[in-house]
Amino acid sequence: MAAARSAGSTGSGSAAGTILRPDWLLADASVAPVAGHAIRIVDDRVDAVGPGIAMVADHPDDEVVDLPDRVVLPGFVNAHVHLYGLLAHGIPLDAAPSGFWAFLEEFWWPKVEDRLDHDMVAAAADWACGEMLRSGTTTFLDILEAPNALPGGLDAQAEAVRRSGLRGILSFEATERSGPEVAAAGLDENVRFIADCRNGGADDLVSGLVSIHTLFTCSDDFVREAFDRAAELDVLVHAHCNEGVHEGEWCEAHHGHRTLEHYESLGVAGPGFLASQVVHLSETERRIVAERGIRCSHMPLANGEVGGGIAPVPELLDAGVTVGLGSDGYVNDLYEVMRGAFLVHKARLMDPGVMDAHRVLAMATSGGAEALALDRVGRLEPGWSADLQVVDGRFPTPVTEANLAEQLVLFRGAHHVDSVMVAGRWRVRDGRVLDVDPEAQRARLHEQARRLWSAA
Ligand SMILES: [Zn+2]
Repeated sequence: MAAARSAGSTGSGSAAGTILRPDWLLADASVAPVAGHAIRIVDDRVDAVGPGIAMVADHPDDEVVDLPDRVVLPGFVNAHVHLYGLLAHGIPLDAAPSGFWAFLEEFWWPKVEDRLDHDMVAAAADWACGEMLRSGTTTFLDILEAPNALPGGLDAQAEAVRRSGLRGILSFEATERSGPEVAAAGLDENVRFIADCRNGGADDLVSGLVSIHTLFTCSDDFVREAFDRAAELDVLVHAHCNEGVHEGEWCEAHHGHRTLEHYESLGVAGPGFLASQVVHLSETERRIVAERGIRCSHMPLANGEVGGGIAPVPELLDAGVTVGLGSDGYVNDLYEVMRGAFLVHKARLMDPGVMDAHRVLAMATSGGAEALALDRVGRLEPGWSADLQVVDGRFPTPVTEANLAEQLVLFRGAHHVDSVMVAGRWRVRDGRVLDVDPEAQRARLHEQARRLWSAA
């Protein structure tokens, strides 16, 4: 473990700062790292980045944390997670679903989402937050669909998220599939939760946005209402979009054009829209996403799990689209998700040049933050939020400016994450999440998973 000259930092309430001095600093995932650069943190923000020796000399009262053999990089942004997804890991099934639609209709809706209650989602949130912190994630967007956990499902999760210290955006995925009352209650849950978070004060790292499910479970009027209410609150609308072939075909049959064309016809295709998945896009839909500034998130591992396909992410990035990475509640370790993103597109396009490591790291950090419309999150620059991870840099081969990003994307994992800081506060030290009892969390999650599985 790194030899810290002095351990810990509250990062708050003091004019003095904390200086971290790793071997390598990768302050912005899209550009080359710098050896010998340090980072100074005051309160919840990055104050300065630059040569370590000069920085320490300029701030003699600061706490200095030497991090030999370590790399400091921005914390990951998981741009799409379902915290409750954990409860379904290993759930007994008679047979694998026969396709994406069967996955939803025969399994995910009746046997998971429709059976969730507050105790279940709270236990899953506790564990998932620890899992994300341990693997270098500092920010996430959660989408809860649990019609029988209304109202208050978001609050049950928020309690766990606030305990963890993560920066979390929580949303309820409103849908008309369970009838108009549940649909209205889902939208209301988002609106009420957003307002409650805003009343919670500037230090609250939990916030909300408006989520809806898909066009095949939401009418035009309902979609318009969701966007209207989000616009009033100045938040994004998130929707799952073309995760399998079903939604595009359904839209063609019911509306005479495809999913993104329909959002455009409703007048809501723009930067206020976060379209997750985007696996199956026609040429016209790709053009709409790029020209309208729709934000996207990419879930390569979860798309594999449901047999959904591979999203045209290099093409979207080439067209200037903002894309973040997400776990979708499947494998909540962004290192694994990054490897998926790094590899699947080369295979699909039979071209090893389409996805370099900086591109992948940028999606996992600044790209995710931009996809979620977060202000000054995702890079370690003066004035930006002090959300970072300290990673073991003892690679078996020498590190260079040119190879560090690839070394991280391909050869690091959660077990290499030494420390994690969110908004200037350490949440993980020496590979352990601070102030949690993982065995108690695990026992609680087992109990809640058994309840769900027995009902299924
Ligand atoms: Zn999802």
